Amino acid sequence: MRKLFIITLAISAVLSSCKNDVKDPKTNTDNPKPPKPVPTVQVEFNGDSAYKFVAEQVAFGPRVPGTPAHSRTMVYLRNQLARFCDTAYIDHGTHTDGDGVVHQVYNVMGRFNAENQKRFVLAAHWDTRPQADEDPVDPTTPADGANDGASGVGVLIEMARQLHALKPNMGIDIVFFDKEDGGESGGAMESWCIGSQHWSNKAFDAGYEAQNGILLDMVGAKDATFAFEDYSLHYNQPLVLETWKTGQQLGYGKHFVNVAGSMITDDHLFMNKFAGIPTIDIIHFDIHTRNAFPDHWHKHTDNMDVIDANTLKAVGHTVLQVVMNHDR
Ligand SMILES: [Zn+2]
Repeated sequence: MRKLFIITLAISAVLSSCKNDVKDPKTNTDNPKPPKPVPTVQVEFNGDSAYKFVAEQVAFGPRVPGTPAHSRTMVYLRNQLARFCDTAYIDHGTHTDGDGVVHQVYNVMGRFNAENQKRFVLAAHWDTRPQADEDPVDPTTPADGANDGASGVGVLIEMARQLHALKPNMGIDIVFFDKEDGGESGGAMESWCIGSQHWSNKAFDAGYEAQNGILLDMVGAKDATFAFEDYSLHYNQPLVLETWKTGQQLGYGKHFVNVAGSMITDDHLFMNKFAGIPTIDIIHFDIHTRNAFPDHWHKHTDNMDVIDANTLKAVGHTVLQVVMNHDR
C-alpha cells in the first residue's frame, strides 16, 4: 500500500471527542450510528494459532507473483480456507491497468452462508512486494513480508477456524487479494491493489452486496498502533468507531489508539469505490516514524522477528467480536 499524505496527528482522550479531531468526512456522517459495544456472543481468538499461519506463509518464501512460492502459497491458502469455510476457491482473472498491461490475478476466497443477503467481508492481501525498495542495503530483492501481507492473512485464517465453530447466521466472505503490493512508489494509485480492483469490478458486475467490510494490513508487529484511516472514516465512520471502541473494551487500547491517521491507498479504497462495500482499513500507523508506516515497511527487516502473537490476537479478537456483534 502507499501513503497519499498525512493530514494531522491528534490524540484525543476519549472516543466521543474524536469526531472533532479528524478530517470531517463528506458522506455517511449525517446521522452516524452510535457504536454497539455490548457483545451478545463472547468470542475467543488464538494468537499462537494465527502466528503459525503467518509463519507457514513466510516459509514458502516471498509470495511474489509469478514465482513458485506464489503458486504454492495460493494452493495452501485455498486449502486452509476449505478446512473451515462452507466453500473456498481460487478466483483467477485478468486486469488491464492504465498502461494497457494485462495482469494475471489470483484472489483466494472462502465463504460462509453464501445464500444470505446480509454479509460482512473480511480481507487482506497475500502477495509480497517484488522488491524491498525501502531497504538501505538491498533494495532490489523481495523481503519476507511477514507483516506486510502474511500477518493479515494469518489472522483471517485463524478467524475462519473460529467462525467454523461459532456457526454465524449471516453471510461472511474472507478474501485474500493478490497483487496489492506491486505499485510504483509515488506513481498512480491504480498501479497498486490490482487484485482488489479486479475483485471489486467483478463484484459490482455480479450485483454482489455486503453491508460492511474490514481490511487488515500490517497487523502483526509488536506494539503496533492503529489510527483512524481517512478513507475508512469517509466511507464507514460508524464501523471505525465501533471497531476501535470494541478493541479498547477488550483491553487492546494500546493498539487501537484514538489518533487521526492519513489517507492510505489500500485494497479497501477499491472495495469502496468500485464495489460499493463500506469497508474500513486496520493498518499499522506508527506515530514515531517519518512515514507513519512501521520502520520495517518494505525492508528486509519485515520478517518473523517483528511478528508478535499478542498483536495478532488483539486484532483478531477485536474484529471477530465486531463481526459477531453484527450477527443478530
Ligand atoms: Zn506493502
